[in-house]
Amino acid sequence: MIIYKSKEEIEVMRQSALVVSRTLGMLAKEVKPGAIPKKLDKLAEEYIRDQGAVPGFLGLYGCPSTLLISTNETVVHGLPIDKPLENGDVVSIDCGAKMNGYYGDHAYTFEVGEVKPEVKKLLKVTKECLYLGIEQMYAGNRLGSLSYAIQEHAEKHGYGVVRELVGHGLGKKMHEDPQVPNYGRKGTGKKLQEGLVLAIEPMITMGTYRVKTLKDGWTINTVDGQPAAHFEHDVAIVDGKPEILSTFDYIYEALGIKETV
Ligand code: MG
Ligand code: MG
Repeated sequence: MIIYKSKEEIEVMRQSALVVSRTLGMLAKEVKPGAIPKKLDKLAEEYIRDQGAVPGFLGLYGCPSTLLISTNETVVHGLPIDKPLENGDVVSIDCGAKMNGYYGDHAYTFEVGEVKPEVKKLLKVTKECLYLGIEQMYAGNRLGSLSYAIQEHAEKHGYGVVRELVGHGLGKKMHEDPQVPNYGRKGTGKKLQEGLVLAIEPMITMGTYRVKTLKDGWTINTVDGQPAAHFEHDVAIVDGKPEILSTFDYIYEALGIKETV
């Protein structure tokens, strides 16, 4: 059952989303060769608590960490470990926070040092997929059209679209209805309505879209060992149109990059 949010609730949710945005912005400066994922996790936990929020993932479904840190062939759900990040890695940092009863949940894939041009392109296209999906999130449209927009753009570039993992509704629970696949058929599925809040999160691979879960029960890797990228925003339908509650601006500011999307 989809739980639609009032404008007041959406404003409260924006604050939770922004806690995560600021946390990712803080981490952006720390993501470099030699950085220890486990230390980033501790930094993030402290930073979230300092903002009067609580980590959204920690303890959820038994999750042991504040962040999910996924490098290279790990698509999502990588656990923060002691192994330092290396030059040329790409690392998706997924972060959740809960404040005033509502969750924020978003993710960004960072470049560590100098990244190969073909991997940079994977990141760029995955981010484009996210914004193309968001464009489709307007009242009266169908969920399948949003999914299709993401899939079409990724596959146009020869990339894989992970099937097993999807975006989701967001609210008082981290995962609410509906599921938001990154693949689908235009004009099919649920009709999108005012007050819908989604975490839209394309997970795109350079090679096959097939993934496997490692023995730790969390880490999800591409089967062929090729890299993956993951970007996630929290988006609401307000006055019929998509409104992005989270922002990558803190990241761009920290990295000194000018982004047009
Ligand atoms: Mg997430
Ligand atoms: Mg999510």
